[in-house]
Amino acid sequence: MNVLVINSGSSSLKYQLFDMDTKKVLAKGLCERIGIDGAVKHTAWDGRTYKNEVTLNNHDDAIKVVIGLLTGSEYGVIDSVKDIDAIGQRVAHGGKFKESVLVDDEALAYLRTTEKLAPLHNPPVVKGIEACKKIMGNVPQVTVFDTSFHTTMPEHVYLFPLPYELYEKYQIKRYGFHGTSHRYVSAKAAEFLGKDIKDLKIVSCHLGNGSSITAIKDGKSFDTTMGFTPLDGIMMGTRSGSIDPAVVTYLIKDEGMTAAEVDSLLNKKSGFLGVTGISSDWRDVCAAAEKGEHMAVVAKNMVAHQLRKYIGAFAAAMGGIDVLIFTAGIGENSDQMREIGTEGLEFLGIKLNQELNHNCPRGELVDLSAPDATVKTLVIPTDEEYMIALDTERIVNASK
Ligand code: ADP
Repeated sequence: MNVLVINSGSSSLKYQLFDMDTKKVLAKGLCERIGIDGAVKHTAWDGRTYKNEVTLNNHDDAIKVVIGLLTGSEYGVIDSVKDIDAIGQRVAHGGKFKESVLVDDEALAYLRTTEKLAPLHNPPVVKGIEACKKIMGNVPQVTVFDTSFHTTMPEHVYLFPLPYELYEKYQIKRYGFHGTSHRYVSAKAAEFLGKDIKDLKIVSCHLGNGSSITAIKDGKSFDTTMGFTPLDGIMMGTRSGSIDPAVVTYLIKDEGMTAAEVDSLLNKKSGFLGVTGISSDWRDVCAAAEKGEHMAVVAKNMVAHQLRKYIGAFAAAMGGIDVLIFTAGIGENSDQMREIGTEGLEFLGIKLNQELNHNCPRGELVDLSAPDATVKTLVIPTDEEYMIALDTERIVNASK
């Protein structure tokens, strides 16, 4: 079965075509600047690469270009669109959905109602689904949600201490995100350690432009740092993470900011960018700290403090920790983040082999634990697209 995995953003669309029989990626690529001007990058499995500016007025245009590239004679990997057996769509917010689902009219109608829960992330997904339907007809589509892994959180964990009617009326609660990534890396960790995941207490740190940390107990998400939206939790590239909510009302009431301005401030102008005034990119923050920029040093100390705090809090909440996972852009690539984020955690049994940490091979699962550590610290490259393809294959096969 060939599965096309699509990850639609407001102005971008990433794709990967998997041959699920061989587990091979046949091609992958990225359409950018949709609705602005348009640029496309496509790479076939054998390295043939197409990169160009292409007018992309909307997501329909992007899907047309992707299909053209996948089936074309020069950069193609399949003969025709008929060779695409199923489509897996990544969705940030699944609302009530506890598992990945086949998209039918009812599912699509519900998905539209979730747009207000994730106004930045979900509307482009609906556009992506509609574009595929329009251009590829009845090819089955499966939606895989970032939130569904976290639907196992117990009531006392997912509820906010607000009047209960807000939960009943508006479904305001902790949803959690990056679930596909946390699910993938925690399963990989158990497989690598040769253990039943149900016997492991895991803290999974997905650290990228967006970051979240999840406590996984009995093989299920038990708690996670992101909340009602992906703004909560640890500080990120441009997002503040958790702050005193009174800051929001203060800025509106006393400083005259509008709700939209505060929203933009917290989502786009805070985090590493806001604190340093230099960049949202972790590599830039580290380079500036190296040069002695005070606020870059402070930003590094802030995120290290938060990381240690959440690891400790989740270990306490689960009654222990057996495995600590680092994944995503920063988690997989930054020895500095792994070092400063675990400093002083020997009391929990977390101790890194620093030499290996500083020379950690890229793109593979690496056990960074020191010989006398009682907690396994693993670097695991995440693969959300593959996880989406696996779910899609399973659900489409079950529906036949
Ligand atoms: P997103 O949340 O957008 O998927 P990524 O997972 O790609 O983000 O992570 C992006 C972050 O990873 C950036 O802050 C970047 O600086 C960091 N990063 C990427 N490569 C490296 C590297 N080699 N060393 C340190 N940090 C890196």
